[in-house]
Amino acid sequence: MSTPLMPAAFLGHGSPMNALERNRYTQAWRAFGASVPRPRAILAISAHWYVPALAVTAMPRPRTIHDFYGFPPELFAVQYPAPGLPELVEEVADLARPDRVGADLDGWGLDHGTWSVLVHAFPQADIPVVQLSLDTRKPLDWHVELGAKLSALRERGILVVGSGNVVHNLRAIDWNRPDDGFDWARRFDERARQLMRETPHEAASLAAHPDYRAAVPVTDHFLPLLYLAGMAAAAERPAKTLVEGYSYGSLSMTAYTLQAHCPGATQDAGGAAALATSLPPDAANV
Ligand code: ZN
Repeated sequence: MSTPLMPAAFLGHGSPMNALERNRYTQAWRAFGASVPRPRAILAISAHWYVPALAVTAMPRPRTIHDFYGFPPELFAVQYPAPGLPELVEEVADLARPDRVGADLDGWGLDHGTWSVLVHAFPQADIPVVQLSLDTRKPLDWHVELGAKLSALRERGILVVGSGNVVHNLRAIDWNRPDDGFDWARRFDERARQLMRETPHEAASLAAHPDYRAAVPVTDHFLPLLYLAGMAAAAERPAKTLVEGYSYGSLSMTAYTLQAHCPGATQDAGGAAALATSLPPDAANV
């Protein structure tokens, strides 16, 4: 029995409130999920598991983590009860050599970087989900290379989904620009789009871009992109833009897919209004 090659994706998750909302971004995530063959499991690489270790969740029933504050109770009530797949740890560990991969039995679970997009892409929550940590000790190139190594999972029915934001600067947020990006945010995002399309193996060179320090003050939301870049480089295929846009001046919502047959999002203006109300001014850790 042959297993179809799984696509892969990087989704710009933005505000956790996107979990509850319907806008052009969530529509795009939904269209992506509907377009892929049913995966054996999803390997999620979320901005919000950013730790000095390389680890994979290994519990049979990962908990839904509400890793934020200042949001309404409805968001804390969201559960994403997908099972885990403990045996995937071994497969990831084999591919990651010589780096060592820890099996996380009870420390983490599914954080909002993962579930805020999966509630749209895979609303049934019936596909096993495993998270991979972002190892803060490693340079950017290492993350691209690990993405390339993990490409082999695509041939084994595993859907790899990165979740972050290419541009993510919470200190620079401008509440008067709910659906707009600063010039520096646009420049950086456009350069990232060019690299992902043309030379994804060079994605780590974005660190030399003049707007990098403004766009990526912390690498947590940026690193998940590098995994898709590594997979695109390994496949020698361009990453395609699934949906693009900006929120609050300093967030890019751009999402990419690799070898997906996805109709893409409708670029209607309704998303702007929905997003305008989505992020409480005192919200944190998004
Ligand atoms: Zn986030």
